[in-house]
Amino acid sequence: MANPRIPRPLFCGNWKLWGTLSDSVALATGVRDAVASLSAADVAVGPGFVALSTVAEKLKGSALGVASQDGYWEVKGAFTGEVAMAQIANAGATYAIVGHSERRQYFGETDETVARKAKAALAHGLIPIICIGETLAERDAGQALAVVARQLDGATKTLTDDELCKSVIAYEPVWAIGTGRVATPAQAQEIHASIRAQLTRRLQARAQQIRILYGGSVKPDNIADLMREKDIDGALVGGASLTVDSFAKIVKEGTSACTRS
Ligand code: PEP
Repeated sequence: MANPRIPRPLFCGNWKLWGTLSDSVALATGVRDAVASLSAADVAVGPGFVALSTVAEKLKGSALGVASQDGYWEVKGAFTGEVAMAQIANAGATYAIVGHSERRQYFGETDETVARKAKAALAHGLIPIICIGETLAERDAGQALAVVARQLDGATKTLTDDELCKSVIAYEPVWAIGTGRVATPAQAQEIHASIRAQLTRRLQARAQQIRILYGGSVKPDNIADLMREKDIDGALVGGASLTVDSFAKIVKEGTSACTRS
């Protein structure tokens, strides 16, 4: 009999800018059916905003969650183009990805805006998936640990301890996102352990409950080795979450690799 892993693993797809409404419904319902028998992990899909409420409606009653890829802290007002965390929650999402490196790189996201988004997500009952990670230049300069520590602190210092305990952290080295160049399990574990240590300094034993996901070129053939690492509690998956087959394989291989027998 396998023992459940603590914390419970989470696998979340990030579809980025992808697909029509019907593509999104087909992918979401396909994933729902493919992982229906799996009870030892949480799984979510991350459609674009236009598809979010329709996908959430189709997934109602299933265990498959929905994540937004961003979200704004204000509830209403003169913020053309923004989508409020309140609207995302109302549309049926469970999670809100915040601070993805593509948003930091192309859309001016800063540690401060990420913090405001995480706080707002929690205020509206969403679980923020807070993304942090160094660039290749920062890694090559020996700054990976320092950059991740600074981003983690910046994004979480305004959260209460209880809010932080409900949050998910995603370590996504920028050089591994969409490049096919995955961090080795040892490279990822080194950073995950440092994140856990930083959380432990603030929260003591409660830090063990916080899920720290890895993201960056996760595929069916590399997830098991990553998930065997002590502080890797799941994955944020971009490209490989765009087909039912590869995402379902990641979820299944990843879950069985971290469930002790
Ligand atoms: C991501 O978008 O968060 C991501 C990790 O992308 P990919 O899996 O394609 O590297």
